[in-house]
Amino acid sequence: MDKIKMTTPLVEMDGDEMTRILWKIIKEELLNPFIDLKTEYYDLGLEYRNETNDQVTTDSALATKKYGVAVKCATITPNAARMTEYDLKEMWKSPNGTIRAILDGTVFRAPIVVKGIDPTVRTWKKPITIARHAYGDVYKGSEMKIPGKGKAEIVFTGEDGTELRELIHEFDGEGIVQGMHNLNNSISSFARSCFNYALDTKQDLWFSTKDTISKKYDHTFKDIFQDIYDAEYDEKFKEAGIEYFYTLIDDAVARVIRSEGGYIWACKNYDGDVMSDMIATAFGSLAMMTSVLVSPDGNYEYEAAHGTVQRHYYKHLAGEETSTNSVATIFAWTGALRKRGELDQIDELMTFADKLEKATIDTIESGKMTKDLALITTLPDVTVLNSENFIKEVRKTLEAML
Ligand code: NAP
Ligand code: MG
Repeated sequence: MDKIKMTTPLVEMDGDEMTRILWKIIKEELLNPFIDLKTEYYDLGLEYRNETNDQVTTDSALATKKYGVAVKCATITPNAARMTEYDLKEMWKSPNGTIRAILDGTVFRAPIVVKGIDPTVRTWKKPITIARHAYGDVYKGSEMKIPGKGKAEIVFTGEDGTELRELIHEFDGEGIVQGMHNLNNSISSFARSCFNYALDTKQDLWFSTKDTISKKYDHTFKDIFQDIYDAEYDEKFKEAGIEYFYTLIDDAVARVIRSEGGYIWACKNYDGDVMSDMIATAFGSLAMMTSVLVSPDGNYEYEAAHGTVQRHYYKHLAGEETSTNSVATIFAWTGALRKRGELDQIDELMTFADKLEKATIDTIESGKMTKDLALITTLPDVTVLNSENFIKEVRKTLEAML
């Protein structure tokens, strides 16, 4: 069989620990035998980030802007323990944060649904995608402990010196206050990314905030979404047969639980943080959650939602067998290859991505899976495979299919 040819390189961002091990096996077993893989390689492993003073992370993000599609392995976000473990020059920032800041994107997370791994919510049949606004609010807030009696106010001082004031509270005793902000530009980018992704994936888009209580802050989010929708997307949505609607977050939560799934739920930063963990857990496993960063000007970065699976890596280093789930990392590759195929009009690449996803799902549904899934599956006859053998089993299913 001839290998599938590519015309534009994918931006390949390698990573750390157990996922770096899986990355290599996935390429050897599932990609290189079938595709003349064209990538521009960036090593985001912590050692090389440290060696380049983290320049490699910035370079990889700029390359994503240039080529449009990237695939990323999970990476370590350094903390105090990692400073000693890797003898770091500095506590380098989270690569995802750096990439997000350069691409100015929105993160979409969706579970991979397979038979035998049943959602906790019985009515859910299709994936629910969470779109989380990744800028501002409490994540860039400033806070104060109020020591006693006194008045707290919000003050805005314009460049010309004019002041706007709003009373927060007349304190009788000790308390707390918090100030937070967002930017109309960032909210607009968030809205456009959501509308584009809904059109891309042909799914309805829901957006929810607490605008009844937050009449200026949350209401601005609601208004910006509606204005952009009316001006730029209404016709496109009608043509695609999909719907956009806004609803109060309380109502959204109730609807989500009663729904069948199969839509995108756009959330403000905090809501998205909390709800994506709830959705992932209720669908079965963090190891089955995909993630894609979409920028408002149409660049895509695909990855798994989970981290580097450090605990398994230490077992691997100690020479013990691991059974780490590679599904979300495989789907990061298929997402990126399909998008590349779509942009470059290479049908074989898109078909290959579909088949590799199907082979992965079929392998699990035939009872062959890693330990994390074996612990929660409702399938009767299960074979637990180690990290490498699961990927080899997917290859067998794939070869039978091609
Ligand atoms: P993690 O790597 O997601 O793993 C947490 C636990 O979840 C694992 O110990 C494992 O449970 C289970 N798990 C996650 N993915 C799995 C998989 N593919 N297969 C089987 N089990 C899986 O989170 P962490 O241990 O908190 O973080 C480790 C490192 O990852 C940190 O340095 C963090 O900075 C980084 N991180 C990176 C990203 C990213 O690059 N996007 C995201 C999150 C975290 P058991 O141990 O019970 O088997
Ligand atoms: Mg969270």
